[in-house]
Amino acid sequence: MKKFFNQSTKELFDEFGITEEGLSSAQVKENMEKYGLNQLEEGEKESAFSIFISQFKDVLVIILIIAGFISMFTGNFESSIVIFVVITMNAILGTVQHIRAESSLESLKNLSSPKTRVIRDGEKMEISSKNVVVGDIIHLEAGDIVPADARIIECFSLKANESSLTGESESIEKTDEIIDKTDLPLGDQKNMIFSGSLVTYGRGTAIVVKTGMNTEIGKIATLMKETKENLTPLQISLDNFGRNLSISILVLCAFVFGTNIFHGLTVVESLLFAVALAVAAIPEALNPIVTIVLAIGTQKMSKENAIIKKLKAVEGLGSVSIICSDKTGTLTQNKMTVKKIYIDEKVINSEDIDLNNNLQGSLIKFSCLCSDAISSNGSEIGDPTETALTNLANKLGMKETEIRNNHKRLAEIPFDSDRKLMSVLCDVDNRNLMITKGALDVILRRTKYILTSEGIRKINSSDIKNIENTNFKMSNNGLRVLAFVVKEANKLTQLNYEDENDFIFVGLISMIDPPRPESKQAVADCIKAGIKPIMITGDHKITASAIAREIGILRDGDKALEGIELEKLSDEEFEKEIEHISVYARVSPSDKIRIVSMWQKKGNICAMTGDGVNDAPALKKADIGIAMGITGTEVSKDAASMILTDDNFSTIIKAVATGRNIYANIKNSIKFLLSGNLAGIISVFYASILNLPMPFAPVHLLFINLVTDSLPAIAIGMEPGSNKVLEEKPRDINEPILTKELSTKILLEGLLITIFVLIGFYKGLEISKELGMTMAFSILCLARLFHGFNCRSNSSIIKLGLRSNIFSVFAFIIGTFLLTLILLVPAFGKFFETAPINLEQLGMIYLLAFVPTLIIQIIKFIRYDLKK
Ligand code: ATP
Repeated sequence: MKKFFNQSTKELFDEFGITEEGLSSAQVKENMEKYGLNQLEEGEKESAFSIFISQFKDVLVIILIIAGFISMFTGNFESSIVIFVVITMNAILGTVQHIRAESSLESLKNLSSPKTRVIRDGEKMEISSKNVVVGDIIHLEAGDIVPADARIIECFSLKANESSLTGESESIEKTDEIIDKTDLPLGDQKNMIFSGSLVTYGRGTAIVVKTGMNTEIGKIATLMKETKENLTPLQISLDNFGRNLSISILVLCAFVFGTNIFHGLTVVESLLFAVALAVAAIPEALNPIVTIVLAIGTQKMSKENAIIKKLKAVEGLGSVSIICSDKTGTLTQNKMTVKKIYIDEKVINSEDIDLNNNLQGSLIKFSCLCSDAISSNGSEIGDPTETALTNLANKLGMKETEIRNNHKRLAEIPFDSDRKLMSVLCDVDNRNLMITKGALDVILRRTKYILTSEGIRKINSSDIKNIENTNFKMSNNGLRVLAFVVKEANKLTQLNYEDENDFIFVGLISMIDPPRPESKQAVADCIKAGIKPIMITGDHKITASAIAREIGILRDGDKALEGIELEKLSDEEFEKEIEHISVYARVSPSDKIRIVSMWQKKGNICAMTGDGVNDAPALKKADIGIAMGITGTEVSKDAASMILTDDNFSTIIKAVATGRNIYANIKNSIKFLLSGNLAGIISVFYASILNLPMPFAPVHLLFINLVTDSLPAIAIGMEPGSNKVLEEKPRDINEPILTKELSTKILLEGLLITIFVLIGFYKGLEISKELGMTMAFSILCLARLFHGFNCRSNSSIIKLGLRSNIFSVFAFIIGTFLLTLILLVPAFGKFFETAPINLEQLGMIYLLAFVPTLIIQIIKFIRYDLKK
């Protein structure tokens, strides 16, 4: 039986029942039903039950379980029931959160899933790679990730990296010719292209022959385990914090137990004290809240056109101090329009081009032949630089499709940003003509002759000077300049790099790509936020500098450097210079890695954009690799940690602001939880030292930590961000979450709440032990609910307003309602071990709980709001 690589295109078409128009919708449906989605099976997902069980592995939860048992054996049944119910509820909540967070990451992943261009029902369309079916005709070009195993039926200089399959790191040159052998190893099946490999060069068309688990990679993939999202630095530092906290809690509990025994309490009573302390100290809600806030934040970012692929990036964004951005499409609109041409020593405006003039007509014709864009059928398809050329031809009344039909393309070397050239070989009036376009500096080196109205002659130094001067003037106005050259190539049927020489210079075409209107403001915001914006572009230095100056990246004292100049700098010289360089022009992707590495060496957190196939290593090297959603290659998207769905530089700045806000919110939630817990700890500790009765039962503290504290903590996490965060300097990545300032605030606010808890406690003790405990519990609970408003931001509520975070109001109302229910409804009171209270005592609870917040608000107002 013939293998796919033995068959001709016709045989393949027959086998899959297709024509050049591709599959019909009915065939797609049929094949999809037969073979299923084109995806590799993932390893078994963790079941909900095992996630639930894993919730109990936390040291803090284990301490709680022990506390529950101690309560049980000391006859405190209600407490132990509550502890166990609460632990179970917490585990259920944790499980739901875990599954939710995973599905939210999953949906983000779907937003950034790879795409493939196919032909179906005669139309070219882009579909999600997982919907590719057997028999699909697919188009591949440099930068694509091959979606399925396919047989190449047409290709131009197509090269693929198949290292994921064969381990061979060099790219393999592909062919569309039939291979007449029976058995061939994969590496030698040069007319086949395999799922998971990367197209590194050229382009081609292929018929999909195998999909999903039937592909070669599917065969060797022993059930791919989902690569787990690593913990973010914040989550790691919180884990460490939790570990240290558990040790401190154990030590403290032992101390309190000892003190109470010393004071003559029974073992049972002393144990209960220790349990209360443990429960007070454990911030049960901390980890789930961080996860929830991060998940809410990433959803928000995706609505703002930044898709987070790696959760780490959210935090990283707050620390970014350098943003290296592409120019074309990111800072500019990527909508090119031809402005001027230069030919036969004359600069001509695009409106004044005369097709009847032989030279001018030829230049426009060559520009259509040496490009792949299509714009004559109403829609623009292709690279914007090339679309500018076909648009110009159309405007002048020339249809690029007609010209291309009349002058068949025989061979080509596609454009790539390393060479900055593109060449085609066309049949022009029965002569083979090679037409090349590209960057002037690259082209001039390869030019020997010039086309003038008097014919072709040797190019001389004054011609070169003229051309270079014109190029300088055009570039200085921010125009992108393409040079066009040709050469008779009758002997050639194929094109090689060595053929790109001995050219005849024809002319220049210059085009404008205006900056995006929002770029200037975004650059200004970026600088204000202490972040240095840097332009890295393949474009000409002068063009790049003109645009960079216009949008504010290139400022007085800043330098623009070319790739070749960079190469000449030693590492030491570069390290000295780097702070002053804001524009890198004519760089190759490998230069990008050097730039990122140097900034990182100097202690910076570096974000870098990239779109090309060769950008992947730089995107991986950067702390935050940013790929372009619209123009980026699949390879670059795969390597990035964030994708801009609108390719826009200003979206990066928005994402930085959101990232900083998320971090600030998490910090505020932590401050809220820890300061409240501290008030509980100090109260218990105080009572133990002074030999007072226990201020709280464990159930009280659990109720506060898990019920009334979680709601405000989440509300704080949802605090709408402000652009004010962009006035601050980037956060030092090594800065611990509990900075000195934050720890001091936690300590002071915790102490303040403790004072009023203890005042209430003493007041209650005057009547009974039970009332003392009830007062202490209620004041701690309510004071923490009030404290939720303090932790929203540095500003006072007068400045913030209640309506700006309506969740915080709901959180407060629900919490207060639940507490009041416990205090006033005897059935609840019995369960929660509270004593009955009268209205006067209730009023006192409300008042004492409110005072700490009043004091904190006054201080905030004076410290942060009055000054402004
Ligand atoms: P960036 O997106 O990194 O800012 P860029 O898009 O300006 O860079 P490239 O696309 O690498 O950079 O282009 C570099 C140079 O190659 C251009 O200045 C131009 O001279 C030339 N060039 C660009 N597109 C083409 C093309 N389609 N054919 C031939 N030459 C081109």
